[in-house]
Amino acid sequence: MAKTILITGGSRGIGRATAVLFARNGWNVALSFVGNQQSADETCALCERAGITGNAFARKCDVRDEASVIDFFSAARERFGAIDGVVNNAGIVAPQSTLAEMDINRMKNVFDTNVLGAYLVAREAARTLHSGTAIVNVSSIAAKLGSPGEYVDYAGSKGAIDTLTIGLAKELGPKGIRVNAVRPGIIDTEIHASGGRPERVEEMGPACPLGRPGDADEVANSIYWLISSDASYVTGAVIDVSGGR
Ligand code: NAP
Repeated sequence: MAKTILITGGSRGIGRATAVLFARNGWNVALSFVGNQQSADETCALCERAGITGNAFARKCDVRDEASVIDFFSAARERFGAIDGVVNNAGIVAPQSTLAEMDINRMKNVFDTNVLGAYLVAREAARTLHSGTAIVNVSSIAAKLGSPGEYVDYAGSKGAIDTLTIGLAKELGPKGIRVNAVRPGIIDTEIHASGGRPERVEEMGPACPLGRPGDADEVANSIYWLISSDASYVTGAVIDVSGGR
């Protein structure tokens, strides 16, 4: 029987690449979107084309809203039965700014989405997963770099994800559930445009030690490995997928 992966923010970018990779490896995929239903439906179609045995379905879920997160997990269980892995991926950036210039609504939205949202998803995962399963939290190399003059709010929100990963790995280890994180660097997705800087990938990618931006598939590969039994003795790890940045 096909295993099931649940992915928040599977409509675009890293979430979409991850969904397609799991589908290609025979998993059922439950993915969420918050606004872009069409894009989420396209991801499902890509999964079904790539899939061997699994199926894909998309559900609207705003991770800032507790009821919405609970609903997504219930819908996934109703559709596929047990959930065998969770990719806690949904996240946002806000336009480039110094901290001195940030208004409270922007900071609340970043923290509500990236911290509260990720904690709610991790909590539901902790309530739902069974022994032999795993969670991957999508952090950012910004947690290490601090993102001065760009978005220190975002960087701090991802620092919280690293800490969540360490604590939850210790809580869930005795239950046989592994918890890890990836910290992507400059990855070519739409997140940069949504933060007001579509040129960021082209400008900053070449400055990485590997001399180029990363591709969403390269992050998906690390996420897949961490969920898979090939990583059976890895928990509480935070893996940089950042081209050396
Ligand atoms: P993206 O292309 O902008 O996609 C973001 C995804 O998150 C979309 O599926 C979006 O849904 C969903 N989302 C946004 N707000 C949400 C909310 N409130 N509730 C539920 N879902 C929500 O971003 P990405 O680059 O793939 O980023 C994915 C993750 O990687 C994020 O956590 C990001 O911080 C992290 N990351 C990215 C980079 C990078 O360079 N790309 C680097 C480091 C870390 P809709 O399509 O419906 O809007």
